[in-house]
Amino acid sequence: MFNFHKYFGKKKTVQTCPMPCANQVQMRSGGFGWEVDDWVKLDRFLVLGSEGGTFYVGEQELTIQSAQAVLRCIQADGARVVQRIVEISQAGRAPKNDSALFALAMCAKLGDETTRAAAYKALPNVARIGTHLFHFVEYCKAFGGLGGNGFKRALGRWYTDKDAARLALQAVKYQQRDGWSHRDLLRLSHAKAPSAEHQAIFQWIVKGWPQDAEPATDGAEKLRLIHAFELAKRTEKPAEMARLVADHRLPHEAVPNRFKQHREVWEALLPSMPPGALLRNLNKLTALGLLNNMSAATGRVREVLGDARALERARVHPMTVLLALKTYKAGRGFRGKLTWKPVGRIVDSLDEAFYLSFRTVKPTGQRLCLALDVSGSMSSPVSSTKFLSCKEAAGALALITANVEPSYEMVAFTSGGRGCVTFGTAYGWAAGVSTVSITPRMRLDSVIRKLEKLPMGGTDCALPMRWAAKTRTPVDCFVIYTDNESWAGDVHVDQALNDYRQRMGINAKLVSVALSGDRFSVANPDDAGQLDVVGFDTATPNVISDFITG
Ligand code: CA
Repeated sequence: MFNFHKYFGKKKTVQTCPMPCANQVQMRSGGFGWEVDDWVKLDRFLVLGSEGGTFYVGEQELTIQSAQAVLRCIQADGARVVQRIVEISQAGRAPKNDSALFALAMCAKLGDETTRAAAYKALPNVARIGTHLFHFVEYCKAFGGLGGNGFKRALGRWYTDKDAARLALQAVKYQQRDGWSHRDLLRLSHAKAPSAEHQAIFQWIVKGWPQDAEPATDGAEKLRLIHAFELAKRTEKPAEMARLVADHRLPHEAVPNRFKQHREVWEALLPSMPPGALLRNLNKLTALGLLNNMSAATGRVREVLGDARALERARVHPMTVLLALKTYKAGRGFRGKLTWKPVGRIVDSLDEAFYLSFRTVKPTGQRLCLALDVSGSMSSPVSSTKFLSCKEAAGALALITANVEPSYEMVAFTSGGRGCVTFGTAYGWAAGVSTVSITPRMRLDSVIRKLEKLPMGGTDCALPMRWAAKTRTPVDCFVIYTDNESWAGDVHVDQALNDYRQRMGINAKLVSVALSGDRFSVANPDDAGQLDVVGFDTATPNVISDFITG
């Protein structure tokens, strides 16, 4: 008998060939997997973006591919796209808001009438600050210009629907970006001021401060911020600047650069500085000597970073915290020359803020195998960040689940190392799985250091199941953190899972957590026990937990 079935059968197929009858496509690494549908592509684009591309695909191709998928979604159901954009953007589920603004611009300019109307209605919920609005307008320019009554009305409403105090804050904080200013947009919109205060703010935006007039902060309450801002421009003394900040709660964006080296100005900014600005300026505050283990400023920072509600209100994303932690711990900027000596209590606070920024995660109580892909491609940066690798992100995400679960094993698929269970070689790569001794009590930065030290292997996402079968480890769900580009194994992920189910008599589930915005998945869409989710969506840990218990 010739063993045809050694090469072609449903039980075992090398990953560089498609499984029989499974409708798989070839991925960029050469392995076969599934192409996710356009709605998943939309989610991946909204959360992970396409900036910087991935290990396998450049940002140009990835952006075009993602935008084409968004376009197909708009053509299929534009209102649903707008709703999705609002859901993800408003809850702060994505690390960056740019993809949401871009997709909304596509809806506004390329959608049918209903879609356009929905997009314009949603504008203030997605473009929440001045910078967002400037981005949106710049994106719209790419899709047929800035004409149209719907567009102008929506732009105008952005200014007229805010109360005067909020509008003044926006006008002071975000003056201009991408070649756009509020003045340009107000002119474009032909908006009519709904009150005398709005009228005064509009006038200031369009015409600036009258040359002969002196700003005075005892005037109209709602215009006080603008007066204070004008005074700040004129002052030369740091002490006076600090007083203006303290008296009128001027945001740091309103402080002229010449004062950014002055400790007293930052000291005045600190009490009302929102979490996002705080995270961006921790390095500076430490370099200036404001933050140390004993200072009151440190206490203030710890209070803000430890306040789950404040973090949620400010839509602080865990990725932002993770990046801040990584930079802060390094003691020097990835860009620029600034150096500082990291303060231990601040590092602790950042660690805590990372978990808090994921909101409340429901534990499942099931036996989980949290499996990290630590192959070479995972050392490339997560889209939209330059300084955070997919591998680090994977470790951090797994910790979120580990932090609340009573029963789990964390493993990494690698090529060797101490205690590694090996599975021979594939294409010259040694294949193996190492258990990673990580406890949720460990601080994030030391976990990441540990992951960095693991040897890399070829990519075989079937290894966690093969490891669990070989070691007779009971697992209810395998959660695999990966870029989905699996190619190195002699059995497919789906087949390894089914083999595990059969051998152990456990109907184990599988979740693939995508860390790349590309279009593939190792999760079989025809198996209700398998799920593909988007990494770094703050809703993901609970989606996983619902799926496991569900
Ligand atoms: Ca890989």
